[in-house]
Amino acid sequence: MAHADKDFVELRTQHLTIDGRSRAGHETYFRVRELGVALDIGRCPDLVVPLAHVFITHAHLDHAAGIPFYAGQRKLQGLDGGTIYVPRESADDVRALLAIQEKLTGAEFEVEVIGVAAGEEVRVGRRLFVRAHAAPHRVAARAYEFIESRHHLREEFASLASDELAQLRREGVAVEEEFRRSVLLYTGDTDRGFLERCEAAFTAEVLMIECSFVAEGHQDRAARYRHIHIDDLADFADRFQNEAVILTHFSRRYSREVIREAVRQRLPHALREKVRVALP
Ligand SMILES: [Zn+2]
Ligand SMILES: [Zn+2]
Repeated sequence: MAHADKDFVELRTQHLTIDGRSRAGHETYFRVRELGVALDIGRCPDLVVPLAHVFITHAHLDHAAGIPFYAGQRKLQGLDGGTIYVPRESADDVRALLAIQEKLTGAEFEVEVIGVAAGEEVRVGRRLFVRAHAAPHRVAARAYEFIESRHHLREEFASLASDELAQLRREGVAVEEEFRRSVLLYTGDTDRGFLERCEAAFTAEVLMIECSFVAEGHQDRAARYRHIHIDDLADFADRFQNEAVILTHFSRRYSREVIREAVRQRLPHALREKVRVALP
């Protein structure tokens, strides 16, 4: 699809449609249509404004600069609510930032800012839970795991007729049990420490993970600025059980050709098969 933004990408996995853009130090945001959420907000493009749930991984401007604009646009367009999830450590400052914008513009925002601690889980719909994971970076950062919850009849009750099930329910018997499916884990910025510590990264159906650096000689830079180098991913190659691994947040010093070549050259076959780059 033609788009004015040359880094804008639309990705389809088995269950998800994800569009957005991501380049290190420039702008990162994604929309996940099936989940109705934004992952980071960049400078707040129009497509994010209608989304009621925005998950900000950390306060760096390439991920979070659009927060006040989102609040203002929601107000302007008469959209109710709007919830912005941020690392708990940053929540008061984000609220203060919005308060200053309100004062400067004489408008009252209606968005809610919710601080999320590592390990905490928030519910964003009847069947969707979001678990925050610690993500090592230069500022407080989270990765967000999106978990679908469904209820199924317990196996031992599968052969019962509906009136028998109704009777059991009246008696307070739990005839159903919860099934959870981790459909997406999104990291924002982080370093290889995340791969060392976050087991869930390897089991989510889709993993979106930053990979800021890909070139030989840039490994030290990745470590210093708390980012991931593609060699870090290669080191963990046999751990990824995901259906798809989507790489984001490439440095703008690399052309698409250089990035695709690095994926071919530096990742072992089994991982390379699953990897997609979040570039057109
Ligand atoms: Zn960034
Ligand atoms: Zn950052």
